[in-house]
Amino acid sequence: MPNDTAPALWIKDPLAILADGAERGVVVADGRIVELVAAGNTPRAPEFTTFDAGAHVVLPGLINTHHHFYQTLTRAVPVALDRELFPWLRALYPLWARLTPEAVELATTLAMAELMLSGCTMTTDHHYVFPPGLEDSVDIQVSVAKRLGMRALLTRGSMNRSQRDGGLPPDSVVQDEDTILADSERVVSRYHQRGDNASIQIALAPCSPFSATTSLMRASAALAERLNVRLHTHLAETEDENRYCLELHQCRPLDYLEECGWLGERTWLAHGVHFNADEFKRLAGAGTAVTHCACSNQVLASGTCPVCELEEAGVAVGLGVDGSASNDSSNVMQEVRAAFLLQRGRYGIGKVSHRDALRWATKGSAACVGRADVGEIGAGMQADIALFRLDGLRFSGSGDPLAALVLCGAHRVDRLMVGGRWVVENGQIPGLDVADLIRRHSAAARKLQA
Ligand SMILES: [Zn+2]
Repeated sequence: MPNDTAPALWIKDPLAILADGAERGVVVADGRIVELVAAGNTPRAPEFTTFDAGAHVVLPGLINTHHHFYQTLTRAVPVALDRELFPWLRALYPLWARLTPEAVELATTLAMAELMLSGCTMTTDHHYVFPPGLEDSVDIQVSVAKRLGMRALLTRGSMNRSQRDGGLPPDSVVQDEDTILADSERVVSRYHQRGDNASIQIALAPCSPFSATTSLMRASAALAERLNVRLHTHLAETEDENRYCLELHQCRPLDYLEECGWLGERTWLAHGVHFNADEFKRLAGAGTAVTHCACSNQVLASGTCPVCELEEAGVAVGLGVDGSASNDSSNVMQEVRAAFLLQRGRYGIGKVSHRDALRWATKGSAACVGRADVGEIGAGMQADIALFRLDGLRFSGSGDPLAALVLCGAHRVDRLMVGGRWVVENGQIPGLDVADLIRRHSAAARKLQA
């Protein structure tokens, strides 16, 4: 992804920047941030071009650590409205069973475009629905990420415990364990990049304790260890899940996870709403990270993730927009605001500031995806940068530019850079016909919901 032949670029004199000692901006070369320019200084680089950021607030690119792109096709579906997680899933599984490769391609493109325009430079996705005909879903997602120029950690999701085995999903959307493991190995060996500047990565992700068997959970952990890739799943999302685990496994979800060999530093977990104080310590000791999904937890009334207690115990916490059928949007900057409001409401002033919420979506999210080269503006980091303008109606009259992003409700970037390359310019993704995408995506959604 680095643009080796381009000269250094000084992103100059921003209104504000989320970095210390970079009051006059940053210099980008060869895909990385090579220099922070402090107040009163100019770049040390002998030659550079300049981008005048005088109208912009500059953030590290936001990182989304939990999502289900295909769910953009089932937003605000009447049959699933006003339901908690289990009945919500039961209402939607039959629709998702009708997904086609074309629908997955459109949903992935639409979700990624939404994410990028919200300031997101790296996303994960958790695709776990594999009805017959959808075997190439991860391959489709890889090709879309490459086309749009976004970093993606795509998880090879899976379900193999269907209704006939006491699970939640219908038989038509699950696969058998051998098929899942063979395909997991295939997509890792084909697509997973390692090291700094990786743009496409793969992780393994059985869906949840109520849709994957213990055997698949254990085998996935062993395979992730052998292939050295990350592990992801939903955990501690609802009280229903606690009850399900207690009945089926006679233990709480985290005990079950540990039994399956998952409690370690290659794992990050979506939700973590219902962990207790003992579990905070065990997660921290193991180096397992948690993704906070503020919007989704509120829409489904799942509860509130104890973010401050997790962080105080030493657990890394990132943000995720979660599936577009429980959010129902793919906007990471709005998720920052939602997390700020929810957690400040829970913990109060002095515990949670706008800077905490921005940190969750950047440094905290980078820890979830196991990356040390993104999530911060610093010399040597990847040049993944989001630039927001503050000249809209909603920002007029604001004082502190960084606080204004969160408090006034920024939701769209003006420019976005991934690995030193502009992938959003003037609020648009070059080469993407948004009107045509909406038309085709809407048609696919209508077909699915018919
Ligand atoms: Zn989810």
